[in-house]
Amino acid sequence: MHVQEIPTSFYRSIYQTSENVYLSRSAEAGSGEELTGRIDDILDRRLATTGGLSLSDAAELLLLVREHPLPEARKAVKDAARALRHRTFGHGVATMVPIEVTSFCSSTCRFCGWRADNKAMARMAITGAAIREQAKVLAAKGFSHFEIAGGDDLKFLKDNLAELIRGLKQETSAVNPDARVSLCLVPMHQEHYEALRDDGLDCVLTWQETYKEDLYNHHIPAGPKAWGIDHDLRLQKKNDNSVGWLHRMQSQELAIRAGLQAGLGTMIGLAEIAEADILSVIMHGQKLIEHYADTIQPLIIGMPAWNAIPTEETDRRATERPPFEVEQNFELLSAIYLLAFPDNHAWVFANGRVNPTVQTDCVETASFFTSTLVQIAPGAYLGLDGNKVPRDMFDRVRGLPDGALSRDEILSGEQFVHYLDSHENFVAGFEARGMNVIPDRAKLLHADPPHPAVVAAE
Ligand code: SF4
Repeated sequence: MHVQEIPTSFYRSIYQTSENVYLSRSAEAGSGEELTGRIDDILDRRLATTGGLSLSDAAELLLLVREHPLPEARKAVKDAARALRHRTFGHGVATMVPIEVTSFCSSTCRFCGWRADNKAMARMAITGAAIREQAKVLAAKGFSHFEIAGGDDLKFLKDNLAELIRGLKQETSAVNPDARVSLCLVPMHQEHYEALRDDGLDCVLTWQETYKEDLYNHHIPAGPKAWGIDHDLRLQKKNDNSVGWLHRMQSQELAIRAGLQAGLGTMIGLAEIAEADILSVIMHGQKLIEHYADTIQPLIIGMPAWNAIPTEETDRRATERPPFEVEQNFELLSAIYLLAFPDNHAWVFANGRVNPTVQTDCVETASFFTSTLVQIAPGAYLGLDGNKVPRDMFDRVRGLPDGALSRDEILSGEQFVHYLDSHENFVAGFEARGMNVIPDRAKLLHADPPHPAVVAAE
């Protein structure tokens, strides 16, 4: 690719620019009647074009989250998003499933159950055979998008990742030719993403957590996510954390340059001014869309939230999480994200961190992309039939008894507490609202050629 990289000064400016824009709109909000009038005008202009919102207009909509929660204006934003969702994605919804491959992690994110210093947490890493077994089970259910996720486990990255991606892509493609594979792990470098693309990777998801660098450094004090990894996938020397932060901000660009789809998102409510972090996602995504206009695939806009963790005694939410009503605002935020980006360029990702009704509302209003049947522990889908999972499905296990593992034992090691419902129940819920499941490949912006790994297996 001959396009110049986006300068690092852009990444360093995102949060402060967004906060300034949000605070200036806040200071000039005026009366509820004036704000409602401006929001009606913004929505009319947005629906009359295919382009996204200016940062200033997106900030006006974000005033409705907490500062001016005007019920009629909030409803108008959701109604506008529904109209936009309908004209861009019709009744289609794409379902994805995360497959956790390792809960060993060398990073220390204060909000996460898998942080390295959480000694109460059971840990597991699965084998290549285990991912192939899970791939068959999940592909047969009708999923077409499979996400490999896990902790920052550098041994796993070096020794297992390429084989797991190849195995997952081959098994799922054999059942569903539309199968696509994404990765949500520590950010790597462009050459790693290019090599993994040849193994069958389609997409890289990187959640920023927060664009506010000092807050990022507070919550992520050590490990690969703080200090970054080098081109040999080794932990960088301890530094002032700016390497890990910047690498995380650039991960989407590196993936796009490698020919992959990218996902971005911030943890809703981690920053005191949560709205500025959300605006940062919009500013970042719009820049990527503008800069890589000829090649970019739709951006997947994640909406993570700080949920409880299973090891309650090590949960820091009570003392460290700023107040923010995630479930009350999830649908509105999904609507703002959809409206903010140009038509067809954003797949807002509704996930299981909110209850299934809120998640389904969000799908109906704004989300083309959503997760069902989420289990966030390595090997968890192998126990869906109620049988114990043989130990040889695990490469490493720590903190659990010897022998085959029960479903409860596996789920005791989940990354965080979340809502669980079957894929079938979710699909029935979507269909009850007139939506139908389609492969996400159907809504890509550019044709995606077959992967060498899949062609070789045929
Ligand atoms: S959020 Fe990811 S990197 Fe951070 S502790 Fe959890 S698993 Fe590790």
